[in-house]
Amino acid sequence: ADDSRHLIGVDLGESEFSGEVVNLRGEVRRSARIPLDGRDGDEAVELVHRLMDELVEANDTPLVGIGIGTPGIIDTVSGTVRWAVSLNWQDLPLGRLIRERNELPVYVANDSQAAALAEYIFGTDRRANNMAVIRVGRGIGAGLILNGELFQGDGFGAGEIGHVTVDPDGVPCRCGRRGCLETVASSRAMVEAAQRSIAEAPDSALGRLAAESGGTVTIDILARALAAGDEHALRIVDHASRQLGRSIAGLIGMLDVHRIALIGAATALGTPWLEQVQAEAARSALSLQTRRSVVEIGRVDPARAVVLGACAVLLTRELGLIPTR
Ligand SMILES: [Zn+2]
Repeated sequence: ADDSRHLIGVDLGESEFSGEVVNLRGEVRRSARIPLDGRDGDEAVELVHRLMDELVEANDTPLVGIGIGTPGIIDTVSGTVRWAVSLNWQDLPLGRLIRERNELPVYVANDSQAAALAEYIFGTDRRANNMAVIRVGRGIGAGLILNGELFQGDGFGAGEIGHVTVDPDGVPCRCGRRGCLETVASSRAMVEAAQRSIAEAPDSALGRLAAESGGTVTIDILARALAAGDEHALRIVDHASRQLGRSIAGLIGMLDVHRIALIGAATALGTPWLEQVQAEAARSALSLQTRRSVVEIGRVDPARAVVLGACAVLLTRELGLIPTR
């Protein structure tokens, strides 16, 4: 019965578009991926169509529909991408375009919100009423589950904490302003800081690890330098994790949410990073609230979180089902 119908879940990620055909238990039946290679605008829309063609073709099981997780502010009612900076999409009727071409129900959701839903449904032991899931990758975005449902706010942008200013005199952000949280605390910000530090101190453990890998820093190299106790790596991660911790304290103060999961590329930094985030969050809000809040690294396979969340949105809207593990 689990294979009586299939779903398509899609993740329009920063470096590649990927998708899966899954059964009603979320098990993969077919998958496809296409590298983005810097394409945006109409070219990126063409890539979505190509990805759909690969997933839909040769599929002999009835499809419930298509769920899409994409960066940006998404009007989930109409399926319109209001604004996605990295893809250069503005007021793009993505849901309608995909629906007309494939003649299937299509739901479009913000990728962080979709990933949050996946973490809430598939990642928690006990079903909490409320949960905040913060995605710390090249950008930063949160998804909020309130009273058991995805909370989107008045303009669908709930959880867009990555572009809240934390340093008014900070560095320029890709949104056009300065000192946003993601210019300080994202994996991209940390990797760039590490790159600058290597230019100044090439003999550090961080510098040597990077040199062994051809001179380029990745989040994994930063993680290894951190684990080795490199002072430059410690300083970079300390600065970034403090800002993230303070933003989390803001969420705790405002929502009194007890379950907070961190997902995304930065989680590769592991315990040293997590502990700093936890400590700063605890220091920056009322202990009455923070001592009951658990900040932890998410449990859903990061490579599948957006796809599973997009499928969950589809199932909820189309069949009225809340999927279970
Ligand atoms: Zn910004």
